Amino acid sequence: MASTARPGPARERTHAVVIGAGVAGLAVARVLTDACERVTVIDRDTLPTAPAPRRGVPQGRQLHTLLARGALALDELFPGFTDELVAAGASRADTQGDAHWYLDGHRAYRAPSGLISYGASRPLVEQLLRARVAALAGVGIRDSTEVLGLAAAPDRTRITGVRVRPRSGGASGDAGEETLGADLVVDASGRGSRALTWLEELGHPLPARTRVRADVVYVTRRFRREPHHLGGLMGVAVVGFPGMPRGGALLAEEDGRFAVVLVGQFGEEPPTDDEGMLAYAESLPGPDIAELLRTAEPLDRPVKMRYPASVRHHYEKLGRHLGGFLVAGDALCSFNPAYGQGMTAAAQQAILLRKLLAEGTDDLPRRFFRAAARAVDTPWLLAAGGDLRFPEVEGRRGPADGLLDRYLTRYRAAASADPVLARTFLAVAHMMEPPARLMSPGHVLRVLRAARKAGGPGTGRPRTPAAS
Ligand SMILES: Cc1cc2nc3c(=O)[nH]c(=O)nc-3n(C[C@H](O)[C@H](O)[C@H](O)COP(=O)(O)OP(=O)(O)OC[C@H]3O[C@@H](n4cnc5c(N)ncnc54)[C@H](O)[C@@H]3O)c2cc1C
Repeated sequence: MASTARPGPARERTHAVVIGAGVAGLAVARVLTDACERVTVIDRDTLPTAPAPRRGVPQGRQLHTLLARGALALDELFPGFTDELVAAGASRADTQGDAHWYLDGHRAYRAPSGLISYGASRPLVEQLLRARVAALAGVGIRDSTEVLGLAAAPDRTRITGVRVRPRSGGASGDAGEETLGADLVVDASGRGSRALTWLEELGHPLPARTRVRADVVYVTRRFRREPHHLGGLMGVAVVGFPGMPRGGALLAEEDGRFAVVLVGQFGEEPPTDDEGMLAYAESLPGPDIAELLRTAEPLDRPVKMRYPASVRHHYEKLGRHLGGFLVAGDALCSFNPAYGQGMTAAAQQAILLRKLLAEGTDDLPRRFFRAAARAVDTPWLLAAGGDLRFPEVEGRRGPADGLLDRYLTRYRAAASADPVLARTFLAVAHMMEPPARLMSPGHVLRVLRAARKAGGPGTGRPRTPAAS
């Protein structure tokens, strides 16, 4: 991949470095081009020229969905992006109308919702984003290069650049190491970010961390998609719940295939052999995934991945910030992937960085981390809060949480018979509406009315098959 930056229009004479060419790094690079003369995106992987999984993004082989909010955010950053994604083969679907959702085993009422989400492999999303960013004036993408640490001014109050080494460089010592000067550095190097070590090396205070156990195991496999499969459905999601820490999903994506994932939590581990996968799918409260596994042709080997915990770094609480240093994407906050929020949260952070940069660069780290923390609050509440339903997860729960949990349990059951409740649930999950909408007086009434007829966890069969 070319590493030369092309001159851009007159901007402040600044150079920004973005560590990581994942979804977060590319989205951030896009907005930095509005404010900086040059932007260099550095990745330690050799970046492919066509969509392909790579070592630095192990989750790239797992099923990825782009939530409705994330799709809008990426279109805002890269106009026409989702059209391009669909032209490359991605599926575009009405989240409620084209999919079956099993919530606590109850199949949510299926109806058109206008909530539009996308099915595409993570390598395809990244490839198209990378092509967009590489075409921007002033941007250079430097791959096969590892960032080793930060360079700082002698008083260590602000960064002056990053220390890098070519990946193919000598194995001994710091052969090939160089310092790349920068006025602004954004760490978008993902969950494995070494930002804490780098800050420690500079004697800088470290942010507090919140960790909520997720203990998730994913097994993803691709199957050929044929028109008769599942009556033309584009997606299925069977969400695990207390007492049933198993789930799964399938999603239409590029190249005429379905990505299928089996999910286990808290000791449940989906197998990777054909018979075991089918038996696991048959144990889910929702028949669709097993139905597909029985009839569809597998296209690859299943790939397993573990995800131990949702982790959030509270940079916003630091009393003192390192000047010119920001952290975004999974490096800032990484969510249980079962909620599908990572790419959306990354794109939202880039949008708010754009807004803050337009207001000026003074005190940028403090302003960014505060705003990013507020933006992260909602997906964090959905993911980490959702996992706190499980008794296996340690964490603070107040009396109000028990009440809320009982209400939401009734809500999920009621959503099988009420299209409005089902739509709002999915709109919240897709970050199109605030979670408080679930508790609006109108919704509470609907839940009470509908749940009166419902019992405990469902069987995965619709209660009103004719209607939904
Ligand atoms: C199993 C699983 C399933 C998921 N499913 C979904 C989903 O359905 N929907 C969704 O929106 N999100 C999903 N996510 C999350 C999503 O993949 C990420 O949140 C999102 O892509 C943002 O990641 P990122 O760009 O911050 O980091 P990453 O994608 O991890 O990218 C980090 C980049 O930094 C590079 N790098 C790391 N260290 C260095 C270094 N020292 N020097 C140079 N380069 C470096 C890496 O090579 C990599 O390219 C899932 C995650 C997992 C684990």
